[in-house]
Amino acid sequence: MYLQHISLKNFRNYLRLELDLPQGVTVVQGRNAQGKTNLLEAIAYLATGKSLRALTERELVHWLAFEQEPIPYAEVAGDVLRDGIVTRLRIVLTQQGGRGSGSGLRKVVMINGVRQRAIDLLGILPIVLFLPEDISLVSGPPSARRKYLNLLLCQIDREYCSHLDAYTKVVTRRNAQLRSFQGKRPDPTLLAFWNDALVEHGTYIIHRRQEIIARLDELVREQHRILTAGHGRLRVEYRPSLTLIPPSTQVPKAQLALALAKEPVAYTPPPILPPHKIRKRFQETLNTLQREEIEAGATLVGPHRDEMAFLLDGRDVRTFGSRGQQRTVALAVKLAEVQLIEEALGTSPLLLLDDVMSELDEERRARVLHVVRQVPQAILTTTDWDVFDADFLAHAYCLQVNEGILTEKTPDTP
Ligand code: ATP
Ligand code: MG
Repeated sequence: MYLQHISLKNFRNYLRLELDLPQGVTVVQGRNAQGKTNLLEAIAYLATGKSLRALTERELVHWLAFEQEPIPYAEVAGDVLRDGIVTRLRIVLTQQGGRGSGSGLRKVVMINGVRQRAIDLLGILPIVLFLPEDISLVSGPPSARRKYLNLLLCQIDREYCSHLDAYTKVVTRRNAQLRSFQGKRPDPTLLAFWNDALVEHGTYIIHRRQEIIARLDELVREQHRILTAGHGRLRVEYRPSLTLIPPSTQVPKAQLALALAKEPVAYTPPPILPPHKIRKRFQETLNTLQREEIEAGATLVGPHRDEMAFLLDGRDVRTFGSRGQQRTVALAVKLAEVQLIEEALGTSPLLLLDDVMSELDEERRARVLHVVRQVPQAILTTTDWDVFDADFLAHAYCLQVNEGILTEKTPDTP
């Protein structure tokens, strides 16, 4: 799979862009605020139907379009080649009611000219995107890690995406229902209805998260070992809000950390619980929490409260890791994701690395570039050509961006 062509109209600071992309590595250089991240954002938008940094889709439309186009719009389109077949993806955002109307944007997703839902885009152009702020995957709040897990799983499993969507709606409506029971006798039929819905969708999510984190744990360890030349043993641990394994059989955390620091081989990951067991535990837990949940007017247990932890030699990188360690862990996770997606979809994702080199020391840069060279297609951005060695650039397609205009560049024409 690779992205052959990308076309932008009024997207962020790109008024018009038609760009053919080769396989292998493309490097986009530009000073600050020229459009490097915007280009990667556009590709990610096409791949997932969502912007990973804009709060509203309005931000994606070029400011000038709102002033100059009779009907302000933005468009991203791309051609994806897989097994000799081209799939054309296209997303158009249009100002409803034309220029000056205060109404919202209409979003149309097309696959090969046929209108589809945004969810149908997932998996056609799988991507792994690493933005500088993605360090929050390690250092940020639990919601950052849930968002990460969701995006990863949605790209490889559409059913997950449907369950997630349904689950999120159920939580909101169930919370409203719980609040309506405050000070009254709860209606057992209604409660059972919402509990069943929560458990049905939640079980699928928990089950898939267990599986994916178990595999991520293995792959991340290896990527981290490559990036750091074996400095520290990294583990990824799923911390579901629903207690999957009764406390009596759990290894106490402190003891586990100690065991890991001294004897890494002694660690055995927890077993993956089959769906029927998750379902049962979920139901039981909801039953015991009933009164508390009504009092709180909120769903207190389930995937919306899940957490995952990155442990370096048994210690949580979020609290104990240096900035550099956190960045390396986040990068290792993204590189592991490349393999994970490849395993799941049978095709390697497009790797998008936004300005990752500048914050790494020379040794780590070399290791990252080694990995980058092995993926079928990667786009890297940089402010400075010097972070790459001449040999790497000689094998890459080099572009320069200036105020939303891309030009080809050979490394020796500064
Ligand atoms: P840096 O090196 O600082 O990360 P960058 O090249 O990644 O810079 P981008 O984030 O891609 O920069 O943004 C480039 C420019 O796009 C910014 O100056 C920003 O103001 C502009 N921009 C963002 N949204 C829009 C929009 N909707 N319309 C026009 N310009 C926009
Ligand atoms: Mg940027």
